[in-house]
Amino acid sequence: MEKKNVELVDFHVHPLLNVVNEKEFLKEVEKANLDLVVLVALDLDPGFLEDWCVRRKFLEDCLELNICDCLQALDTVRRMLNMGHVDNNVVGKLVKDNPRRFLGIGSVNPCKSLSYVKEKLKEIKKLGLIGVKLIPTLQFFNPLREEKKLKEIFDFCEEHDKIVLYHTGCDPYLWEAPRFSENANPIYLESYVREYKNVKFILAHMGSYSSKYPGIWFREAVELGKKYSNVWFDVSAVPYLLLEKNYTEIIHREIGWDRILFGSDYPVVYNSSISSLISYLEKYSYLSEKDFCKVMGLNAVRLLGL
Ligand SMILES: [Zn+2]
Repeated sequence: MEKKNVELVDFHVHPLLNVVNEKEFLKEVEKANLDLVVLVALDLDPGFLEDWCVRRKFLEDCLELNICDCLQALDTVRRMLNMGHVDNNVVGKLVKDNPRRFLGIGSVNPCKSLSYVKEKLKEIKKLGLIGVKLIPTLQFFNPLREEKKLKEIFDFCEEHDKIVLYHTGCDPYLWEAPRFSENANPIYLESYVREYKNVKFILAHMGSYSSKYPGIWFREAVELGKKYSNVWFDVSAVPYLLLEKNYTEIIHREIGWDRILFGSDYPVVYNSSISSLISYLEKYSYLSEKDFCKVMGLNAVRLLGL
């Protein structure tokens, strides 16, 4: 990527072209005046729910949460996974068509076979994507149980200088229940971030996303960031981390602002646009101007070595 003046970077955007078509999507990016956008692939597979063991566990969890129509819930989840899936090639094509403005992060589902994981990593390398997105909620994996495949992924990241974008916190719909999202608690990452010191792990949502319990694993995320300098964060879907004093003070005191990245999660968060989110943050964030500039772009520039 050629060097240029990069000041405003959105590190977390989903090119869900079935939700927002390509033209609208590009218009939104233009409107927000972003210098650089990191597009995130999501390797999701509704077919996974056809596995009898997975389905049984899913239905048991539904019953535990007093969800009466478990089969309908199963159907909704299938639809969500279908809709949320973004192929690495889609991201690769958008980056190829807009090389001055887009960078892409690929995705691989660690629940699948080791040979599948290896194939996907090859694909990510071939497409020139800058990292790997993992999402234990929608990919239904437990980070400790999938150690072998995660190590394959992190070895790849270390060898090829790729970053890891790792979902932490809850997720919409059934995953609002911590029972469904517990695999996305940052505490399960400690052994990996310790072992892979040369790999930068970005904890998406800083452990905090939850509509029922905002800031659900914020504390755990902060602890990890305090201990390991290769742990970074994005504030996508949780802009209140920059707006509410009880969060900004903790970040300021315990981690500082050098490893915090702006992300919008567009278009996943409804009723919001990237430009209005940025204006709102400019107006109401608790950060000093210097720290604000770091979060909105300068940190990303440093992370990406631009
Ligand atoms: Zn997201």
